[in-house]
Amino acid sequence: MLTQELATNVAVPNDLEAFWMPFTSNKHFKQEPRLIARAKDMHFTSIDGRQIIDATAGLWCCNAGHGRPRIVEAVQRQVADLDFAPSFQFAHPKAFELASRLAQLFPGDLDHAFFTNSGSESVDTALKIALAYHRVRGEGTRTRLIGRERGYHGVGFGGISVGGMVKNRMWFGSLLTGVDHLPHTLDIDKNAFSKGLPEHGAELADELEKLVTLHDASNIAAVIVEPVAGSIGVYPPPRGYLERLRAITEKHGILLIFDEVITAYGRLGKGSAAEYFGVQPDLVTTAKGLTSGVIPMGAVMARKHIHDTIVGSQADPKVIELFHGYTYSAHPVACAAALATLETYEEEGLFARSAELAPYWQEALHGLRDAPNVIDIRNIGLMGAVELSPYPGKPGHRAYDAMCKAFHEFDIMIRITGDTIAMSPPLIVSKAQIDEIVEKVRGVIDAVA
Ligand code: PLP
Repeated sequence: MLTQELATNVAVPNDLEAFWMPFTSNKHFKQEPRLIARAKDMHFTSIDGRQIIDATAGLWCCNAGHGRPRIVEAVQRQVADLDFAPSFQFAHPKAFELASRLAQLFPGDLDHAFFTNSGSESVDTALKIALAYHRVRGEGTRTRLIGRERGYHGVGFGGISVGGMVKNRMWFGSLLTGVDHLPHTLDIDKNAFSKGLPEHGAELADELEKLVTLHDASNIAAVIVEPVAGSIGVYPPPRGYLERLRAITEKHGILLIFDEVITAYGRLGKGSAAEYFGVQPDLVTTAKGLTSGVIPMGAVMARKHIHDTIVGSQADPKVIELFHGYTYSAHPVACAAALATLETYEEEGLFARSAELAPYWQEALHGLRDAPNVIDIRNIGLMGAVELSPYPGKPGHRAYDAMCKAFHEFDIMIRITGDTIAMSPPLIVSKAQIDEIVEKVRGVIDAVA
C-alpha cells in the first residue's frame, strides 16, 4: 500500500480499495498501480516522479496538451466569478458565446449547439434529437436507429445499443429495441498496412440499402457512425465509404450522425472529420477535445433545419420544445474552459500543426512494420494504431502487458484495445517527440515478443 507523500508532494491514497475503477482490470491495477500525480504539456509525472510521455492525449482528449496556461487561468477565473448557473430557463453569456464559436467551427449549417457533459451524453442527445425531429415532422414511425459493428458510442443505453463492441453490450439486457448494425470496415486481408484511407470497402456502405429494403425507409430515423472508428483501434474509413453513406441516407430521408467525440477539434487537422472528409452530416456529437479534457463537457451540433423544425414546432412560445437536458449542460466553468481551449487551438495554429505533422506521424508509425508480431498499422491525422497478434489462446494479453511495461519500464502512456496499441498524441507534439514515441513503442513491442 502507498502511504507516504512522494517526491511530487502530492498526497497519495493509502488504500486503493474503495475506488471502483471504470473500464479497468481492478484486481491487477491494484496489485501494480499506475498512478499519475501531475501533467504538463506533453508529459505526465508519475507519483514516483518519472516523466511519462503522453502518446494518447490522456484518453483522446487533451488535444492542446496539459496544463496550458490560458485554459488554467480561464477556469480559475470562472470558478471564482460564476461557479454555477442553471441552463434550464436561465443562462449565462458564455454559453451563447461558445455556441456561436462552435457554429462557426463546424461546416455547413451545423449552427446549433446542445451542451452535454460527455461523449455518452452527446450520443444519447443526438439520438433523441433525431427521433424528435422526425416526430414533429409527422414521420413518427421513423424510430429505427442504425449503428455499426465495433462502433463505440459511449456507455449510455442509447450508445451501447447503437454501438457494436460486444463486451459493452452483453451484460446489459435487451438494450434499445429497433436497432440494426452495418458491418464494420476492417479488412486486414485486403487493406493491411494502408497509409491513411484503405482502398477496399466503400461498398460496405451499400449494406444500408439492404436494411432499407428490409424495414422500409419510413421506419428508419438515423444512422450513426464514427467517421474514423477510434476506440476499437483506429479504423479509417475506406476511400469513398462516407460519401456513399451520405448519399444513401439522403436518398431515404435518414439522418446521418457523425460521432466525432474523438475526431473533432483537430485530431485530423481540421475542426471536424466532417470538414476533413467534405461530407456533411445532419448531427455531430463531440466532447473530449472541446475542453482539451480539462473540464467534462460535450456538444451536439445540429443543422439549422433540425433545430428550426423542433424549436418551431410549438406555436406557444412559453412551451418547452425539447424535453431533454442536463443539470450541468453549459456549465459556466466548462464553457470558460472550452472558450479558452478554442482560443489556444487558434492562437497556436494547432489544427494546421496537426495536419502538417500527419505525414511525419504516418511514416514514423509505419516504421514499426518490421517489429515482432505486428500484423497491421493504421493511421490518419494524428491518430494511429499498431495491431499485434495475440499470445496463443490469450487474446488481449499481449497488448495489456505492453501497456503495463510501457508505463513502468518505458515511461510512455499508450492506449490498448484488444491486442491493438492505439495512439493519439496531443497536437503540440514535436517531430522529436514523435520519434521518441515510436522508439519507445518499438521497445515495448520487443519486450512483449
Ligand atoms: N463516442 C465516441 C466515438 C468515443 O470515442 C467516446 C469515448 O471514447 C464516446 C462516445 C464516449 O465518451 P465519454 O467517455 O465522454 O462518455
